[in-house]
Amino acid sequence: MPLDADTFDALIDTIRRFVAERLRPLEGKVADEDEVPAEIVREMKAMGLFGLSIPQEFGGLGLTMSEEVRVALEFGRTTPAFRSTFGTNVGIGSQGLVMAGSDAQKAQWLPGIASGETITSFALTEPGAGSDSASVQTRAIRDGDVYRLSGSKRFITNADKASLFTVMARTGGEGANGVSAFLVPADLPGVGIGKPEKKMGQQGAHVCDVNFDDVPVPASNRLGEEGEGFRIAMRVLDRGRLHIAAVCVGISERLIADAVAYAAQRKQFGKPLAEFQLIQAMIADSKTETMAARALVIEGAALKDAGAPITLEAAAAKYFASETVGRVADRAVQIFGGAGYIADYGIERLYRDVRLFRIYEGTSQIQQLVIARETMKRGG
Ligand SMILES: Cc1cc2nc3c(=O)[nH]c(=O)nc-3n(C[C@H](O)[C@H](O)[C@H](O)COP(=O)(O)OP(=O)(O)OC[C@H]3O[C@@H](n4cnc5c(N)ncnc54)[C@H](O)[C@@H]3O)c2cc1C
Repeated sequence: MPLDADTFDALIDTIRRFVAERLRPLEGKVADEDEVPAEIVREMKAMGLFGLSIPQEFGGLGLTMSEEVRVALEFGRTTPAFRSTFGTNVGIGSQGLVMAGSDAQKAQWLPGIASGETITSFALTEPGAGSDSASVQTRAIRDGDVYRLSGSKRFITNADKASLFTVMARTGGEGANGVSAFLVPADLPGVGIGKPEKKMGQQGAHVCDVNFDDVPVPASNRLGEEGEGFRIAMRVLDRGRLHIAAVCVGISERLIADAVAYAAQRKQFGKPLAEFQLIQAMIADSKTETMAARALVIEGAALKDAGAPITLEAAAAKYFASETVGRVADRAVQIFGGAGYIADYGIERLYRDVRLFRIYEGTSQIQQLVIARETMKRGG
């Protein structure tokens, strides 16, 4: 049952205040300490953020995609590490289970994921399999009631906090059809988590290697049939791309607001920067592109809620919104001038943070390939 409009509006209102009053003052601290404070994580759990997309029967809020992207837009207005804290539970870590899990698997895991007691991660990428994700080499070999899982995953978001991984591993021959998906509890023997990587931006959100050394995964933890894993992963990424695109739009809107405020108060040549048409041109380009990106996100989410295929729309939204936020961040640094380059103003931090959006959940080049393939499939 969807939330009624008043309840949803109240949720957005609460989130908007939480972002403005609780999270934005902590942006510098989170970046310096590379950690989201434990009390913030507790507050997020109490607000139901870990279960935004989990059906209500399992304790989540059961938001539609159109509602979820509205929440993601709001979280774009602050440092993206905050969103990442619950992002894998809402998206790539849980949605394989929501889409393809059995009733028993859902009943076992979804309530903990919705409450945030269980943190989930999505483990597809490997040292040798990035953009070519169908070439994963992690192996799951059937041995009676278990699969023996061996291999290495790389750059896995929230791996150091996760108690459950959705892992794509090879059970059959080469290519996409040889890949299956598994729910792998982190406390099984043979699961090893690497140290958090040092990154260009998004401090507070951690990525680590994950190693599986002959891990006995119960056969009952397989998601769907053998050979379905890659298709499940791609469906998970389709909806994840809309979510990421919405975050990009939120950050673009934040950056435009910051740049407009700065341009209004900073004076040169005896007048505010905002009166210079070359500054206005940058604001106009950022605003127009952000409005276009927002429209792609809203339309993609509405199509998803209507049950339409969204592979093309999600790729286009993610491609355009992530490229847009890169340009918007670059212009914001320019409008701030020297201050844009100085850490205290926070603009250079967002500039670094947004670089990731063109890389993960499919690089811009992979989105271009998907868009072209789907467009040609549809005949133009
Ligand atoms: C901070 C962070 C968090 C991440 N979180 C997760 C996670 O939670 N789970 C997970 O599974 N993965 C995660 N990833 C991995 C991420 O999805 C991959 O890094 C990404 O898909 C790109 O793969 P790659 O790094 O191997 O780059 P490569 O595939 O080696 O690509 C390098 C360059 O070549 C280009 N390229 C590759 N193939 C083609 C082609 N056919 N045509 C044109 N250009 C091409 C790419 O676009 C890119 O520009 C994360 C990565 C980072 C950095």
